Amino acid sequence: MAEAMPALPTPDQYPAVYQFKFCPLDATPLIRQLKHGLPRLCCPACGWVWYPNPSISATVIVEHAGGIVLARRALPPDVGIWHLPIGHIEFGEQPEAAAIREVYEETGLEIAELRFLTYELSPSYADSRMFYIVFGFVGRAVGGTLQPTAESSEVAVVPLAELPELKWRSQRKTVAAYRAMLTGS
Ligand SMILES: [Zn+2]
Repeated sequence: MAEAMPALPTPDQYPAVYQFKFCPLDATPLIRQLKHGLPRLCCPACGWVWYPNPSISATVIVEHAGGIVLARRALPPDVGIWHLPIGHIEFGEQPEAAAIREVYEETGLEIAELRFLTYELSPSYADSRMFYIVFGFVGRAVGGTLQPTAESSEVAVVPLAELPELKWRSQRKTVAAYRAMLTGS
């Protein structure tokens, strides 16, 4: 079941980094106007409207001889936690392509047979006014070399039955969907 979300935020409730003061196209001071049913930051000169969007990421359960691949995070936030490979989808990038790229960047592995499992929309841990959509996939390691990278201080293969509780909700949901897929439920 979807988690209860707060009412849709208005400009005064946007995260600080979204509270723009000037039009990015012509530097005119922005005003608040109703657009498509919500107050939004609008440019009275050129008509530009700020439509805030969630950040979009992809995470992957990597099937490897011996179990599932975990990486130990080398970057803030949450330095030191063990997690599934995950990263932002670039502007214009397919989620599947981002998943394959992030696995390589964080673990050195090449994967194939990518399958979609589930998605999660949730507030950011760092700022509950920011939102993330995370696409969860499963793929199989078919090449490359499992090794730490600039983004991961350690990497490991853990049997699925011994997988530790993961910190990030989107990754717990992805693991649950994976287990359900395996059992056919
Ligand atoms: Zn403008």
